[in-house]
This record gives sequence, structure tokens and C-alpha cells, in this order.
Amino acid sequence: MTQGYRKRILVTGGAGFLGSHLCERLLRDGHDVLCVDNFYTGTKDNIAHLMDNHNFEVMRHDVTFPLYVEVDEIYNLACPASPIHYQHDPVQTTKTSVHGAINMLGLAKRVKAKIFQASTSEVYGDPVEHPQRESYWGNVNPIGMRSCYDEGKRCAETLFFDYHRQHKLRIKVARIFNTYGPRMHPNDGRVVSNFIVQALKNEPITLYGDGGQSRSFCYVDDLIDAFVRLMGTGDDFPGPVNLGNSTEFTIRELAEAVVALTGSRSELIFRPLPSDDPRQRQPDIGLAREKLGWEPTTVLRDGLVHTIEYFEQLLNASSAGRNG
Ligand code: NAD
Ligand code: UDP
Ligand code: UDP
Repeated sequence: MTQGYRKRILVTGGAGFLGSHLCERLLRDGHDVLCVDNFYTGTKDNIAHLMDNHNFEVMRHDVTFPLYVEVDEIYNLACPASPIHYQHDPVQTTKTSVHGAINMLGLAKRVKAKIFQASTSEVYGDPVEHPQRESYWGNVNPIGMRSCYDEGKRCAETLFFDYHRQHKLRIKVARIFNTYGPRMHPNDGRVVSNFIVQALKNEPITLYGDGGQSRSFCYVDDLIDAFVRLMGTGDDFPGPVNLGNSTEFTIRELAEAVVALTGSRSELIFRPLPSDDPRQRQPDIGLAREKLGWEPTTVLRDGLVHTIEYFEQLLNASSAGRNG
């Protein structure tokens, strides 16, 4: 156990991509973990390997409704994260971010728990400042297709800081940049999973726009380590803090790396750029380095190899299921 004593920790969205890795890590550190999820985008498969652990519990629950449990810490991750998923029911997305935050903050207030918020680089919108520092206020369209997510997450940050100021809550706000790894949803439209699945099937790789837009990709294990470090910082550090990898790649470079690592026969094709798609995104992680003593250690190539292995197994299992 890396912490001083065993804690009871609530992870909302615990059956999702990041949540399932976080539950795994917290159990490994010796804590009791309560995973709360409505399985909107998460799956039981993501947490199946944890079910035999006596320190792990799962509750099907929607965070837009009140939740009464007794815990020491809360990681609030519940929210669909990929554009396809969060735009499917945009009103529910805003409710999840805003009502979900109010309920989890109300819970934290009642039980005096420390509470972590999974915020996002999307609070910076289509940034005019580059790379993005925490002091940048962002450039967000309030009425576009991405607004349900971006403005929902911005409002959640406001709520966190008002509960902190008004009710002295201990908060930890992380602004997460693009993260990838095993257990990403194969059909959620995010670029890393899309490209890997397309490459493994030898289907065309779909570059939106000219593929010249940039992102910085963080491997999931690095990110989860930062979550735990942030939760462990002193009460005088509420954040917000950028968490991500600061090495920037164009989407075209990513496509080429995936094709090379999979040995795929896929060709690159071009499709229209979705509206409000940010041209570039790169975190300044100076604050995370200073406050958490953290920086990512997994280079894109190594992270892609692990992720490709995962999707290979997933595709083999699903084709075996179809043939069997
Ligand atoms: P995900 O979709 O895999 O996981 C989200 C989980 O929340 C799912 O298990 C889903 O079923 C659950 N959920 C959704 N609405 C809910 C509700 N109303 N009540 C209870 N559970 C609900 O996404 P992820 O990539 O694991 O993202 C987790 C968190 O991190 C999200 O809050 C997301 O906004 C944030 N984030 C992720 C990234 C990234 O690159 N993955 C980047 C920035 C921020
Ligand atoms: N809440 C919750 N669990 C708790 C305590 C509160 O889900 O253990 C919800 C409650 O439904 C309320 C919200 O959190 O709507 C905000 O709580 P707070 O105490 O801040 O506000 P109030 O109850 O005064 O509206
Ligand atoms: N993208 C792409 N092809 C795809 C999926 C995404 O070119 O098949 C691009 C998308 O337009 C965006 C970038 O990849 O510029 C990252 O997209 P993603 O949805 O993963 O994350 P976000 O836009 O939220 O950073």
C-alpha cells in the first residue's frame, strides 16, 4: 500500500476507459473502491477482472441523481468523453457534468471527503494561446456541437471552486488532455482507437481535414499516476492542473505511426473536418512537474504498441464470437 492507510474511495464513471484503470490502481494500492456507473459508455467487461476482489464494489447509478454513501475520497469521472458519445444526447451530457458535480460535491460536503474532478483540455476550446497554461481562460463556443461537453465541464469547474471557497471543500481539479490506451471504446470515434481499428482491418485511415491539426497523446498509465499524485497533494493546492503529454504530433504523423506499427496495408483518406475541431492542442505541464513531481514517461510508440495489442485481442475475440 503506497498510502498511509486504507481509504474508502468512490470512483464515478469507474467502468469507463480511465475509470477502470483508476479502480485497478487504487485496489493495487490497498484501498476499498466503490465504482459507480450507469454503463452509458462504460462496460462491465472493463471491470470484470476486478469483480473477485473483496475490496471492490460496483453500483449501477446515474450521478445526476443524489447518492448517499460514506467515503473518504471521491474521483468524479462520470461523463461520456468522446465527441460521438457526448453529442448523442447533449442535454444528458450537460446534466451529467453539472447535476453530477452538484451531487458529488454535496456528498463530499456531507462526508467531508476530498474530491477530484476529471476536467478537460476542452475548457480551453479552440485555443489562441499555445501551449495552454492553466491561467488561460479559453476560447469556447457556447452554442456549438461541442458546447454541451465544454460548457458543462467549465460549469463543473466553477462549482468545484465555489464549493471550495464557500464550503471549504478540499478539491482537486485536473484538466486532462487526450489520453489513449487499452479499454478505449473501439467505436467511440476517437482518433487513436479509430486509426488502430482501421489499420488492423486494413481499412482506409480517415484523416479529418488535411491531418495537419495537432494533438498531444498521453498513455493511460502515466495519467492515472498523475491522478493519484494530485489527490495526495496538500489541501492548499486545488488546481486546476494540466495533465497530459506535452509532445505534440500532427494527426497525419499519428496515422503514419499506426500504419508502420501494425504493418497495415491501409491507405490514408481525407474526410471533412468536424465543426469546432481545435487546430492544435498541447499542454504546458510545468505546474504538474512542480506540484506533483510528475511527467509522462511512456513515448507514443510504446503506448501505441500496448494499445494495438489490446485491440488485436478484442477484434480476434469478436471475430471468434461471430464464427463460433
Ligand atoms: P468513458 O466514456 O470511457 O467513461 C465515462 C464513464 O462514465 C463511463 O463508464 C460511463 O458509463 C459513465 N457515465 C456517463 N454518464 C454517467 C452518469 N450520468 N452517471 C454515472 N456514470 C456515467 O470516458 P473516459 O475517457 O474514461 O473519460 C473519463 C473522464 O475523463 C470523463 O469525465 C472525461 O470527460 C474525462 N476526460 C477524458 C479524456 C480522455 O482523453 N480520455 C480527456 C479529457 C477528459
Ligand atoms: N447530495 C448527495 N449526497 C449527499 C449529500 C447531498 O447526492 O450525501 C446532493 C443533494 O441531493 C443536493 C446536492 O448534493 O441536491 C448538493 O448538496 P448541498 O448540501 O450542497 O446543497 P443543498 O442540499 O443545500 O441543496
Ligand atoms: N480525427 C481524425 N480521424 C478520425 C478521428 C479523429 O482525423 O478518424 C481527428 C479529429 O478531427 C481531431 C483529432 O483527430 O482533430 C482528435 O480527435 P478526437 O476525437 O480523438 O479528440 P478531440 O478532438 O476531442 O481532441
